[in-house]
Amino acid sequence: MNSTEFQSRLAPLGFANVHSLFLNLPPADLVEHALRRGEGQLTDTGALMADTGKFTGRSPKDRFIVRDEQTTDSVWWGDINIPFEATKFDQLHQKLVAYLAGKELYVREGYAGAHPASQLKLRIVNELAWHNLFCYNLFLRPAAGVDTSWAADFSILCAPGFEADPAVDGTRQKNFAIINFSKKLILIGGTAYAGEMKKGIFGVLNYLLPHAQDTLPMHCSANVGEAGDAAVFFGLSGTGKTTLSTDPHRALVGDDEHGWLPGQGGIFNFEGGCYAKVIDLSAEKEPEIWNAIRFGAIVENTRFVPGTRTVDYANVSVTENTRTAYPLPHIPNALEPSVAGVPQHIFFLTADAFGVLPPISKLDKSHAMYHFLSGYTAKVAGTEMGITEPQTTFSACFGQVFLPLHPTKYAEMLGQKMDEHPEVNVWLINTGWTGGSYGVGTRMKLGYTRAMITAALTGKLAGVELRAHPVFGVQVPGAVPGVPTEILNPRQTWHDPAAYDKTALALAERFVENFRKYADFANEEILAGAPQTTGAVSLA
Ligand code: ATP
Ligand code: MN
Repeated sequence: MNSTEFQSRLAPLGFANVHSLFLNLPPADLVEHALRRGEGQLTDTGALMADTGKFTGRSPKDRFIVRDEQTTDSVWWGDINIPFEATKFDQLHQKLVAYLAGKELYVREGYAGAHPASQLKLRIVNELAWHNLFCYNLFLRPAAGVDTSWAADFSILCAPGFEADPAVDGTRQKNFAIINFSKKLILIGGTAYAGEMKKGIFGVLNYLLPHAQDTLPMHCSANVGEAGDAAVFFGLSGTGKTTLSTDPHRALVGDDEHGWLPGQGGIFNFEGGCYAKVIDLSAEKEPEIWNAIRFGAIVENTRFVPGTRTVDYANVSVTENTRTAYPLPHIPNALEPSVAGVPQHIFFLTADAFGVLPPISKLDKSHAMYHFLSGYTAKVAGTEMGITEPQTTFSACFGQVFLPLHPTKYAEMLGQKMDEHPEVNVWLINTGWTGGSYGVGTRMKLGYTRAMITAALTGKLAGVELRAHPVFGVQVPGAVPGVPTEILNPRQTWHDPAAYDKTALALAERFVENFRKYADFANEEILAGAPQTTGAVSLA
């Protein structure tokens, strides 16, 4: 990098000089650097395997937003958007730059947002070569010959080896991810979890798009059929966004973050790649993801079958959150550019470990708004012995932790879109338990969930008789091609129907309790989507 290049690229980020710097290296170079530096190992399919260290997931309690003139009245402050002092940010920024200046640095320039109207030009400075490869995979790659010496719309400085001093720097712990909207800069330190970078930029777009572009940012995956019919899949972590959007019969738009443009504008991916869970991955059940894990892809926190370079996807000794990061072209039918029309189907995915919600049901606008704001899923409590109750999670808009604005802002936008496009079908899919709660029942077979989604997408449910679920009010189809009829009504899958009724009403109570915080926002229409909680409800 010559001095002009340095001036335009790194000087604006606060650097006066750096030890050495690698600019926009292609994957092969980055893999060589990563191996030379001992950051990882090659797998037998040519992927780079790396560890994220102490943090094997994001650290939401250490995600801050600088509170200043721009953000003070617009950000929804609280334990999700934790305020950070501007002066402390500047101080930490200086320390971080001083730390990084002495290292070999990897700089990457790319975009977030596949639609030109809402594209952010990014510049990312990494301490780790494999992180720079992650950014190559996950963000959008500029076409050959494009001059990327731009004034970035947003930058990231990511230094996993740098730790803050909480007493001096105003952080909670040594690790941090701090967004500064005025400086257009994210600082990440003390953690090598690569997902912090992609979700950092997601947070930025979740703030900017509703404001400036009237575009709805969504924590969802998306794909499109041959007829151009787009579908989006909202869901919290582990509910199936990545798995279910990867469908050999439909082109993949993206697996995690999308925007929905105003009016007749459709959807677009924010990212250039996927970040898929690989726990228990198999070639049979998820062939596209399996085959995407080749040269250029990264696998995180996995282990080899002893004595080989074959990844053992069943090994969760580091974490259950093992992941792969690959660029979209690693999926055979990925769309390029990743933009599609107005969605014709919206799926809300929930992994209900109580086994209460039907595996597929259709929602009217009231139920759609209610479930969107609720953002329900239930996790298995833990992996210790004697697990009892699954834990309910309510995360507004199926991604509350990524929302800098109040959830009702996004819900309002979705409601408006549903009014503008009344033909859109909304479905609730339970990818979680059937035949009982966790511990008694089993997880819904992936093949069945896929068949249910295919049936919905191909119009096979259009003429099918629907019956309202007695507690949740959602409309349950009586038959779905390729799926045993008896699993469609969850109560019938339980050995003890009385236990089902009790669990269903208890879950309904949780929904109602959680929804109290939206009392000011919820009108009659939305409240019509609430479940029944009275014991008098007949479930027969
Ligand atoms: P994140 O937001 O963390 O990326 P995600 O919503 O993309 O999460 P996936 O990566 O798709 O979640 O994870 C779903 C996991 O559940 C996969 O490991 C998949 O194999 C497994 N699974 C098991 N049964 C089902 C099912 N019926 N439907 C969907 N996924 C299932
Ligand atoms: Mn995913």
